[in-house]
Amino acid sequence: MSQRQKKKLVNEGVARLKAKPGWDPAAFKGKTPTEQLRDLHQAQRTLETAAEAETCDACTAARAATDDPTALCDAHLEAALGFR
Ligand SMILES: [Zn+2]
Repeated sequence: MSQRQKKKLVNEGVARLKAKPGWDPAAFKGKTPTEQLRDLHQAQRTLETAAEAETCDACTAARAATDDPTALCDAHLEAALGFR
């Protein structure tokens, strides 16, 4: 993949993520396109995990047990952190 294609991919991804709440575009400043792309993949995965967790029974139980609306079950916590 060329630098130019990477940049295009990053810009498209950033535009998508900017439309979502809780996204901080300042976190991208001063990074190379390769670093941005890597971060973007992680951010995308975190967002996907959050969406999955919305309908996960174990996550719902974890939220109820801890009284923390952002709590995740072990599997989704690992996924959100990029371990899986
Ligand atoms: Zn879960």
